[in-house]
Amino acid sequence: MPELPEVETTARELRPHLIGRRITEAIIYWPGAIAHPSAEQFSELIRGRRILNVTRRGKYLLFPLSGDRTLLIHLRMTGGLSVESAHRPAGRHTRVVLLLDDAQALHFTDQRKFGRLWLVDDPETILGKLGPEPLDAAFTAQVLAERLRGHRAPIKAMLLDQRCIAGLGNIYADEALFAARIDPRRPAESLNESEIRRLHVAIRSVLAEAIRAKGSTLRDYRPPMAESGRFQERLQVFRRAGVPCPICGTPIARVRIAQRSTHFCPRCQR
Ligand SMILES: [Zn+2]
Repeated sequence: MPELPEVETTARELRPHLIGRRITEAIIYWPGAIAHPSAEQFSELIRGRRILNVTRRGKYLLFPLSGDRTLLIHLRMTGGLSVESAHRPAGRHTRVVLLLDDAQALHFTDQRKFGRLWLVDDPETILGKLGPEPLDAAFTAQVLAERLRGHRAPIKAMLLDQRCIAGLGNIYADEALFAARIDPRRPAESLNESEIRRLHVAIRSVLAEAIRAKGSTLRDYRPPMAESGRFQERLQVFRRAGVPCPICGTPIARVRIAQRSTHFCPRCQR
């Protein structure tokens, strides 16, 4: 499932193809993909608008449009975006196609249909509850400490909570906790200052490295362009239950936290 590095990679790869393009028509194959407004209004309101930029906030893609509207897309489990020739027919999992003024089209495909599109005046109505961006300069160890203070939930569950920090999902939460040598089951409030500092560095370095590798290519996600992400080759614990820990050789353990599989080294992570 795409997390911050995969969504960031998608934004970067789409940007040169989409900035300045005008949306001439929206073809909606599955109206359920449109979260707001209605599918009919969405088509009507998006037609003729120019794409001014492609950015990211948490796991959301933002497309600021001319006329003070913003298109937001959340890929969720299996959503994907690609720029295709306008003549390319929709595939079995194509949910929405935005035809562009340069004989190209933006295809939104989504096998499991959890992904959503919004067309809004103010993106904050959707993004307002998100926690800080972990790669922003403003996200310091002190900010992380404040977000975790007083929370008894396992640290892994806190990292997955988008209101605590935006953009982390199961892959990078497990990898960051391994890099910080912190047991994912620990109550968030039990982390001391030096552990929080380690976790802060680990979150930022794991995400930055994954962006450099263009994200991880797993079953559910492929980047929009031909070149695939390569970070899956560098995963230390995620989906490696039973495999020896790369540091100490102890088999990687798997437990469930917040309904999600969690992978960690029972010896290195305390
Ligand atoms: Zn280990």
